[in-house]
Amino acid sequence: MRGARRVFDHFDTKHSSETAQLADLYDLVVVGAGVAGLNALYAATEYLPKGARVLLIDQKDMAGGMWNVAYDYVRLHQPHPMFTVGDLKWGWNKPPSYLAKRDEVRDHLASALAPIADRVQLDLRFGHTVTGCEDMRAEDGYRAAVTFHANGDAEESVTVQATRAIHAPGLDYRLAEPLVFSNGHVISILPQDLLETLAAHPGRPVYVVGGGKTGMDTILATLAENPEREVTLINGRGTNFLNRTKYLPNGLKRWTSGMLISRLFRDLALTFDGLNEDHLIDHFRRQHSSDPDSANGVFLYGLQSEEERARIEAGLAQRHDGYLEDVEGPAEAPVMRLRGGQRVDVPAGSIFVNCTGSFFRSPEKAHVHPFLSPQGTVMSINARDGFHFLTSVAGFFATHLLYRGQLANAGFYTLDLEELFRRNRNAWVGASSAQAYMNQVIAVQILPMMLLDRCALDFDRWYPLPRRIAGLIRMKSTAQADIAHCRGVLERVADRFEVRCAPV
Ligand SMILES: Cc1cc2nc3c(=O)[nH]c(=O)nc-3n(C[C@H](O)[C@H](O)[C@H](O)COP(=O)(O)OP(=O)(O)OC[C@H]3O[C@@H](n4cnc5c(N)ncnc54)[C@H](O)[C@@H]3O)c2cc1C
Repeated sequence: MRGARRVFDHFDTKHSSETAQLADLYDLVVVGAGVAGLNALYAATEYLPKGARVLLIDQKDMAGGMWNVAYDYVRLHQPHPMFTVGDLKWGWNKPPSYLAKRDEVRDHLASALAPIADRVQLDLRFGHTVTGCEDMRAEDGYRAAVTFHANGDAEESVTVQATRAIHAPGLDYRLAEPLVFSNGHVISILPQDLLETLAAHPGRPVYVVGGGKTGMDTILATLAENPEREVTLINGRGTNFLNRTKYLPNGLKRWTSGMLISRLFRDLALTFDGLNEDHLIDHFRRQHSSDPDSANGVFLYGLQSEEERARIEAGLAQRHDGYLEDVEGPAEAPVMRLRGGQRVDVPAGSIFVNCTGSFFRSPEKAHVHPFLSPQGTVMSINARDGFHFLTSVAGFFATHLLYRGQLANAGFYTLDLEELFRRNRNAWVGASSAQAYMNQVIAVQILPMMLLDRCALDFDRWYPLPRRIAGLIRMKSTAQADIAHCRGVLERVADRFEVRCAPV
């Protein structure tokens, strides 16, 4: 429990404890202490009475979710103030454009427990696994029943009752496996082992398999370690990134250039008609990406600056546009075989880093957990019945709407984001943009301005207030037609790909 104790360093243990007796009835139980669960909890404390009993449960030893286990050189790809819990400020004076590192992100998320514990009586169960979270019938109506046990002790599970539960288990982030090759004379690793492997094998060429965010981080980390090292990218269909230089500009350019990110989402949502996903990605690449002249055919909501792209271009020794199938051939003369048959010689002892992605990779899909349980005591922020592809945003907005009684029958849609991602990634971009934009427009119409302004996750906050207000007026003026378009898109995609998509 070393990790959990570090959390206690941040706040007063009088009000919050890991060892406290479990309550007979909680006002709220939150499952998952990642950015989604913490945003939900932070939002809920605005509605719960002071001193309400709240239980937070997570499998990990401390808060922060996947930022506890992602590779050590990962950085936020958005400016750090826009990745937080509610309106919680980062406790430092770094420039807003600074891209926070993994441990900084984890520690910032964990620091949210202190202000939460000031408002409610917070019990923590880190190192515990939840196995059930559903409605149960009680004498006076329905409650949420949450069943959990200490990790590794499934025999000793307990069930607590709560007026409400919020289930935020994340997006099935899993560490991948190193790639397996027929030729054993190359080194195959995960990003988690990169820095150690580079130190142990100075000068060996590095092959980065996968051109997404992890791949780009890996190229930059390798070049930072040794700018002379030979780095090759195996790019697959190639990933586009949103141009951070253009859309999150610095200084005076915030007044004069760029575009509100909500306008960008509107552009994606309106460009997609539910059928033209490849055109949509092409449009995105030409209009909004950091590399408009490339042939990259995928977009996964990553961001990249023009400077980062230039550094990568200058540092790469080679790039292969294709998928790696195997490294084969005689022991001392390995050969890469790409899908399509292309063969490329590789120096023996080269380092291959598996950057092929960590979301929705398992053979089995996540269990379907309804966004709202039949009796409404449990809200689940998950990808099978997803409210917004950004779980952080879902945690913030859905919780406010839930406690204000404005979630059901307001026109919000949920979508099986995982199933759609597995079937067609480009359609997933189109549909998730349409859903995100539509749900945002509806929320903006329903929720008070004061509350919207406290969502620091909102990328539009990068721009000065007058530009944001003008954007809001424009958003409202086209709301009806835009919502109708997005609803049509979602229904078309649901039909075409046979994925669950329904009004809340
Ligand atoms: C490499 C990488 C880089 C990324 N970079 C960015 C970025 O720069 N910007 C950005 O906005 N997003 C980024 N993301 C997306 C990222 O997933 C989200 O930002 C976010 O951190 C996800 O938060 P979450 O709370 O939904 O899930 P998680 O962080 O996964 O948290 C879920 C928590 O629930 C717990 N849990 C799950 N099941 C149970 C159970 N049964 N019982 C108890 N506890 C359980 C888990 O232990 C975990 O702590 C990145 C993702 C990856 C993989």
